[in-house]
Amino acid sequence: MSINRRELLAVAGAAGITLASGATASNLFAADATLPELPYAKDALEPHIDKMTMEIHHGKHHQAYINNLNKALADQPALKEMPLEQLLTKLDQVPEAIRNAVRNNGGGHLNHSMFWKMMAPGGGTQDKGAVGSAIASTFGSFENFQTAFATAAAGQFGSGWAWLVVNGGKLEVVATPNQDSPISQGKKPLLGIDVWEHAYYLKYQNMRANYVTAWWNIVNWKYVNELFNKAK
Ligand code: MN
Repeated sequence: MSINRRELLAVAGAAGITLASGATASNLFAADATLPELPYAKDALEPHIDKMTMEIHHGKHHQAYINNLNKALADQPALKEMPLEQLLTKLDQVPEAIRNAVRNNGGGHLNHSMFWKMMAPGGGTQDKGAVGSAIASTFGSFENFQTAFATAAAGQFGSGWAWLVVNGGKLEVVATPNQDSPISQGKKPLLGIDVWEHAYYLKYQNMRANYVTAWWNIVNWKYVNELFNKAK
């Protein structure tokens, strides 16, 4: 199947069809999505994120987004061949009957596929690299950025995400509700935190701010820099 898709991309390229320039490193296709493996053990992010939360979040919640995306696209062969990032930038072309399902579950699949890679055991001690420098010059200091990001995370009413994105060549902190991806607004996500209660409730209960504070210890700056280099 991956060969077929590679061939499809080659055909698209030969035909002069431009695939999403805002593509991220995920390279996910919309069709027949499968659950990506975690790049670390389910207890590897402890004590900041506990093993049971990871088991349920990855194995149940992410899997459910995938199942529902596949169901929504079952009768949509053209949409199924699109990279997921591209599909999420063309939601207006998705039939209205399945648009919300694609938005929510396609967004859920993309967001979580990136989220797992945005974290790594001990990540917070990594060199923040070029994106660290860009953060400092945009926000005045890394601490100012953390405050803006934590404020966005705390201020997202109900379920959603807080993000560091590239928007028109500039770094910005934004929040999105539900599983909306910044990609749908033409923004390129570099770092995102899931602030749905399923991401933190077992360990942190109602104290979302404590989860956000602890989460900085496991940010995978190496991956954030990969996304930054692609987004520039
Ligand atoms: Mn989640």
